[in-house]
Amino acid sequence: MDDSKFLKDVRVRIAPSPTGFLHLGLARTALFNYVFAKKNKGKFILRLEDTDQKRSEPKFEKDIIENLKWLGINWDLGPYRQSQRIPVYARYLEKLLKEKKAYYCFCSQEELEAMRQYQLSVGQPLRYNGKCRGLSENEIKKRLAASKQSIIRFKMPDKKIIFHDLIRGKLEFDSSLLGDIAIAKDLATPLYNFACVVDDFEMKISHVIRGEDHIPNTPKQILIQEALNFPNPKYAHLPLILGPDRTKLSKRHNACAVAEYRKQGYLPETLVNFMAFLGWNPDTEREIFSLSSLIKEFSLEKVQKGGAIFNIKRLDYLNGFYIRQKSLDKLTESCLPFLIEEGLVEPIFESEERMPNLTGYLGKEIVQKYVVKETKERITFDSLKKIVGLYQERLKKLSEISEFIDFFFKEKLEYYKDLLKWKDMSNDDVKDVLDKLEEILSGLELDKFDKENLEKVLMLEAEKRKDRGELLWPLRAALSGKKASPSPFEIAEILGKQKTLQRIKAARENYVTI
Ligand code: GLU
Repeated sequence: MDDSKFLKDVRVRIAPSPTGFLHLGLARTALFNYVFAKKNKGKFILRLEDTDQKRSEPKFEKDIIENLKWLGINWDLGPYRQSQRIPVYARYLEKLLKEKKAYYCFCSQEELEAMRQYQLSVGQPLRYNGKCRGLSENEIKKRLAASKQSIIRFKMPDKKIIFHDLIRGKLEFDSSLLGDIAIAKDLATPLYNFACVVDDFEMKISHVIRGEDHIPNTPKQILIQEALNFPNPKYAHLPLILGPDRTKLSKRHNACAVAEYRKQGYLPETLVNFMAFLGWNPDTEREIFSLSSLIKEFSLEKVQKGGAIFNIKRLDYLNGFYIRQKSLDKLTESCLPFLIEEGLVEPIFESEERMPNLTGYLGKEIVQKYVVKETKERITFDSLKKIVGLYQERLKKLSEISEFIDFFFKEKLEYYKDLLKWKDMSNDDVKDVLDKLEEILSGLELDKFDKENLEKVLMLEAEKRKDRGELLWPLRAALSGKKASPSPFEIAEILGKQKTLQRIKAARENYVTI
């Protein structure tokens, strides 16, 4: 392969704060970083920015890690945790303090608030007014010794910052509008912009690819880099993700956490394909991209500036597509957690295998035997496969599976009024048909009870009537208890002779009483 196509020494990262679940925006940022790294034979790093001890929680960290893995977005290095790197930041903070590029500020909350109010009233930009910039060494020592409340501020140089964003082109900022920003609460508590700059340097990050909402941080970070004599990474700010109403995607749109999509039965390959189009446009009609094809095709030049609109119809379309693509083995395996969660079946563990749950995985070996919870009958993975297979074509989300196939696992079905009637059939007509069906099917030998034979025998009978539906509808409804289902032949084959006959009888008996 021609290596000259690759950018050299690409190292990118995502740097989530574990203060919330992995949401679609962050997952999209992770995806773009991942494919960019892989395309350029670089490294993708996961860094957890957990210096805000109050808001960071292990459950969020776990969620971020688990769901990135589920999506197949694997990192090469990390996860690094900023909370474990405090001495590194302290070293650089001390350096800036020593070189007088940063200083201690002792202004109280009240003073800062008064400053803000004043600036608001005279229409000045809101920024720190530099009051503590000129404190003498002695004064600082005295105040620190007296444990006066303080923070560390960066002495913002007065200059224009211009940087070239790989997506947006030239961006210009005036640093005088920023004021002396806080970079740490104290030596052991760095704040975001500072810790981020130090880590991007220490981790040799070549490209910072992140959401557009971070554009205001970039000039601050560039100036801190300059103060520390660090090289600047390249920047690419991804467009915001917008809801269908064109406002920033948020909880309001019910479309945030990746775990939520997973729980609803979207496949990881669907989400990856879907997220790729949230801002990236390959300039072709092609809609289907797997992770590996994205690695080949992705480029930052084809990322748009304008907001990327979230379209749930496309998500459903893609999910249906990927469900149809799956091997029946894999599809059944993916459906199983939903069937278990719904209480339809339970795996029979023969060894020390882990109990599955919706967010977990069934273990490396697929459990081969299950018990139907309601009837206590055993059912094999292969039989489940047959049942799931009936719905592969029409399934849009895995979570729909239980509702589709629950009738296979029930002891007794309930038939609501008129369900068994085709068009203008009377009660007596239905009863007669069910009698006829019982007669024909009980005469069919066990080894002939497969869908081909069932179809042959039953179609012969159905054709005798003015409308085939008069036989096929009551049969299908009697076996499934549903208005819509696969053909009665397919259902009868799976149910087997005994159950099929039982259901026909039960339908006739129950039908009389409704
Ligand atoms: N911790 C920041 C966030 O979660 C990281 C932003 C960045 O990529 O620099 O938004």
